Amino acid sequence: MQEDVKISIRDKILWLSIIGLDALYVFLILNEHFPAINNYTLFFILSLAAYLMGSFAIATFSNDFTVVPHFFAIFPMLILFDPVSTSLIAYLTVLFAYRKHDARARLFGSVQYALAYYFAGLTLQKIGCNLGGIILALLVFKIINAVLVDFWYDFLRSRIRKIKVWIKGFFMELGFFSMTIPMVAAFPLVKNNVTLEFLVIYSLIFPPVFVKFLAIQSRSNRELKSEKEQLSKSVQKLKRILEVSQMLKVNMPLKELMMRVAAIIHDDLGWEYVLVSMVTPDGRIERIAYAGISEEEFKRLKKNTPSLQFIKSLMKEEYKISNSYFIPQEAEEILPPESSFIGEYEEKKDENAWRDMDLLWIPITDRMGKMVAFISPDKPKSGKRPTLEEITILEIFANQVFIALENSSEFEKLQEKAIRDGQTGLYNHTEFYNKLEGIIQNDEKFCLVMIDIDDFKLVNDTYGHQMGDKVIEYISETIKRSIRHGDVAARYGGEEFVIIFRGMNKRTVKSIAERLRISVGSGNSPVKVTISVGVACYPGDSSTSAGIVAEADKALYMAKLSGKNTVVVANTKNKKKNY
Ligand code: GH3
Ligand code: MG
Ligand code: MG
Repeated sequence: MQEDVKISIRDKILWLSIIGLDALYVFLILNEHFPAINNYTLFFILSLAAYLMGSFAIATFSNDFTVVPHFFAIFPMLILFDPVSTSLIAYLTVLFAYRKHDARARLFGSVQYALAYYFAGLTLQKIGCNLGGIILALLVFKIINAVLVDFWYDFLRSRIRKIKVWIKGFFMELGFFSMTIPMVAAFPLVKNNVTLEFLVIYSLIFPPVFVKFLAIQSRSNRELKSEKEQLSKSVQKLKRILEVSQMLKVNMPLKELMMRVAAIIHDDLGWEYVLVSMVTPDGRIERIAYAGISEEEFKRLKKNTPSLQFIKSLMKEEYKISNSYFIPQEAEEILPPESSFIGEYEEKKDENAWRDMDLLWIPITDRMGKMVAFISPDKPKSGKRPTLEEITILEIFANQVFIALENSSEFEKLQEKAIRDGQTGLYNHTEFYNKLEGIIQNDEKFCLVMIDIDDFKLVNDTYGHQMGDKVIEYISETIKRSIRHGDVAARYGGEEFVIIFRGMNKRTVKSIAERLRISVGSGNSPVKVTISVGVACYPGDSSTSAGIVAEADKALYMAKLSGKNTVVVANTKNKKKNY
């Protein structure tokens, strides 16, 4: 679509020549030189006009309608001069026309035009330069042109058009040609030198304006068509994506899944090199799958993976397109050479062309928006930088990949590992705070229970650390049994635990904590232990996560002070009085 935008120097020269010729004409008219012009000069000027107009049309359309503009200069020649010299000019005009594609087409074009003009000239000579003769000559011209080009030449190139299109084209061109009738019909008066100016205006001003108008029309048609084609291509791709992503939704090993993802982007979405990287729960990047590159190359990339921090530092707002990142070569963001893949690229001049240092990252995110993987497609088969539509298609695919990931039990295990404490299976410290923040953001009421084992050092000292660990596991199990689905139990530190009881009031939670304390003390513990418990509730005791934790911690401290093996509930109102 952008191809037409640049105006080449040759086009500029062409334009200038036409303007120059027009200026010459105007000058001649103004100085009343026309009556004095002899036939040779007029023949020369019309020939030049024919050449320029023809070239101008070719430059504007490249193929269609090229016959129209030079017709406006050559057809009058048929009336002023003889058929042979006119058809010779037609022959030369087309043969040497500006930027016509191949020699065969040029030769064929010039011969057929010469023939068409010659027979039109003969017709004029036979019937005379009256209105009837002119119309008949036009018809003869167009019929010869249609038979030779639309039938014969297109048949030779096995490019047979539909009959409806052919008839439409025939009458359209005939219509254009008949525009010369008003001018040519006034010719009998030319002898009196009255209408030469009329001829000039008609043959020089009218065609370029007309061609320009047609060019705009045909360009907008072409753009519409290419947009439509683009759209149907996109729909086709989308359909394919939905088909293949269906195949991903069976539980398969993570690596195999991602290899399929890479293959689909390579085969169906038109990228020559594809790399899929996972973000591991502990915050590393792991190159997991590839397509279009060799195994050795992939191994090298795997060894030289950039840090997540580095990747994130490049994911700047200015590079964001939709939810993806396109980092153009011009941005000069340097990726360490050992961690990037550089394929074989041809040199490109087009500004929309994909450059070898261009980067495109399509993140695969979980439901919370956290990036769990990203796809880096490289070197589009189209050779062009991606459009918004192409990126959107990749993103739709990335979403499908996430759904497939969710179905992968291996992925689930990997994710769970990151948020749970390995020894007890409770949530870890980080995940506890994540959950706490989430609940506070939703402004959900809850109570936080903080638990610390009493005299645990003594247990370790007396029975050894292994026994200590067993006690920690025993307490964890007891905690798990005391919570409902939706509550959050976490290992806060070594022998400290926290529980978030959601949607409950202080009184209820106090009695649950009390029951828990009793069941720890009376349960089947490897060694007799007790716990101290502090309770604080949101939003009564504090409206922030840090505040609630501090209040629960204080209550726990009070429990220790008051002799351990007890539950203390934060009482912010009393404290305020005390201070
Ligand atoms: P207090 O009643 O005041 O809580 O006395 P305490 O001895 O329990 O004191 P504190 O809570 O400070 O105890 C922390 C001790 O817990 C220190 C450490 O040796 C032990 N500990 C922490 N994590 C673990 C663990 O994972 N396994 C074992 N065996 N011991 C741990
Ligand atoms: Mg402690
Ligand atoms: Mg303790």
